[in-house]
Amino acid sequence: MEGAAMPQLRVDVLSLFPRMLAGFVDESVLGRAIRSGVLEFSSRSIREWAEDRHGIVDDRPFGGGAGMVLRPGPVCRAIDALRGEGSKVIYLCPDGIPLRAQLAEKLAEERHLILLCGHYEGIDERVRERSVDLEISIGDYVLTNGVLPAAVLLDAVARHVPGVLGNSQSLRQDSFNENLLTFPQYTRPAEFEGRRVPEILLSGDHKRIDDWRKQQQLERTRCRRRDLWEMGSHE
Ligand code: SAM
Repeated sequence: MEGAAMPQLRVDVLSLFPRMLAGFVDESVLGRAIRSGVLEFSSRSIREWAEDRHGIVDDRPFGGGAGMVLRPGPVCRAIDALRGEGSKVIYLCPDGIPLRAQLAEKLAEERHLILLCGHYEGIDERVRERSVDLEISIGDYVLTNGVLPAAVLLDAVARHVPGVLGNSQSLRQDSFNENLLTFPQYTRPAEFEGRRVPEILLSGDHKRIDDWRKQQQLERTRCRRRDLWEMGSHE
């Protein structure tokens, strides 16, 4: 551990492919936050809670049809083993509510999230009724399992946890803050293949730079995301 920060958020992910998350977490800003103690994280296999020694946790769907479904027993035992007072259990699924920046920010205020990943055709509906507090979709498309959605949610939430990002100002200028897209960014060299950086960014006049950036945000949002534009009070 690099420092002695108080853990702000614990996240446990339950899936059939627990190692899929290890590289992603270790190699990113999240890894630093875990090592410094700001975040606590575990990625566990639902098979640990299987009924038999072969680790079988799925079965054919009642009523017939394609694919397999995760059985309720192992999934519920896994959740019960990890859940404590104040834990929030989130099932990642295409028929959940869409993930948006505001939801990610709100979830960063929680103390403990259990992210449940589906596999095959999903999980037995009774787990959803019994043990899931919130169902979240990362977009209108279907992935083969819930591990990438869990990684997306983890990343989107964790960057709002105090102490995870080095500079919290970047959160304020990111897209979707105040229903605006971000402004264009440039770095050295000031001229690249004949394209010059907008002169104002070289002026050192921070007030004018801020105004220019705000203007760019408004313009970008108005042209690219009419839905966001209409949600804000920009007109
Ligand atoms: N039969 C399900 C349906 O049509 O809604 C799709 C199952 S999908 C092949 C397997 C698992 O991947 C889901 O249980 C869920 O955990 C995850 N998954 C796939 N797409 C997702 C998305 N857009 N958002 C969140 N989770 C998703």
